[in-house]
Amino acid sequence: MKIVRTIADASSLVTRDGTVGLVPTMGGFHEGHLALFRAARAENDVVVASLFVNPAQFGANEDLAAYPRDEKRDAELAEAAGVDILFAPSAEELYPPGFQTWVEVEQLGRTLEGEFRPGHFRGVATICLKLLNVVRPDRAYFGQKDAQQVAVVKRMVRDLDLTVEIRVVPTIRDGDGLALSSRNAYLSPAERERALALPRALATKDAAQARARLNDLDVDYVEVADFEPRVLAAAVRVGKTRLIDNVILDKERA
Ligand code: AMP
Repeated sequence: MKIVRTIADASSLVTRDGTVGLVPTMGGFHEGHLALFRAARAENDVVVASLFVNPAQFGANEDLAAYPRDEKRDAELAEAAGVDILFAPSAEELYPPGFQTWVEVEQLGRTLEGEFRPGHFRGVATICLKLLNVVRPDRAYFGQKDAQQVAVVKRMVRDLDLTVEIRVVPTIRDGDGLALSSRNAYLSPAERERALALPRALATKDAAQARARLNDLDVDYVEVADFEPRVLAAAVRVGKTRLIDNVILDKERA
């Protein structure tokens, strides 16, 4: 696996002799990321993973500084999962002085996560478009864990006439049901225990029941979201850690 750090190297390294799959990530790799890498490996000739903690998608009071960063570990895991090129650019190159062009997916970006994290999806859509422009993949891979992110990226692809195919990989969970997340590393053992209420609540697939089960936690939202597919999505805070999760609602309940 090659690690490249500049836009020029990333665009020149990606050959056009076969299909290219891109997996955008912020690092702190776990089995969720590895599932995306493996899916990309199975479907493409060249697999590129990007590793970039995107400041533009963090709010002023969020965990940008504390976000888990361990490039050496991430590089080993990515290589073992079949990644060919790890693109780890600098914030300085991606957001040079004078940067002022943003992608705003207006309505989808304002609800749910967007309501509690204003500007988040503007940062997500913008970095995704930039990464797609640099790498020019045939397919890009995203996790169902971030269902609204999938909806926002798919909308951007349609609205801006991109030709990339968006592939969605099911949510990977620990044995106890908690969806894997880089942010789970923030949880103390006691907090982790309390966090299990989130997947258990969502497993009811019923917004009212889920709300009742999350009574003891600090809930940002529990809502049915009309994405494709429809999901019951929730965000909660456990101590200082904010967790999101969702379950796909069965077709017959839609
Ligand atoms: P992140 O590094 O958190 O930005 O995540 C990078 C990609 O991995 C995103 O498309 C996420 O949706 C996906 N992802 C994160 N956690 C999981 C998970 N538990 N299962 C499946 N995909 C995930």
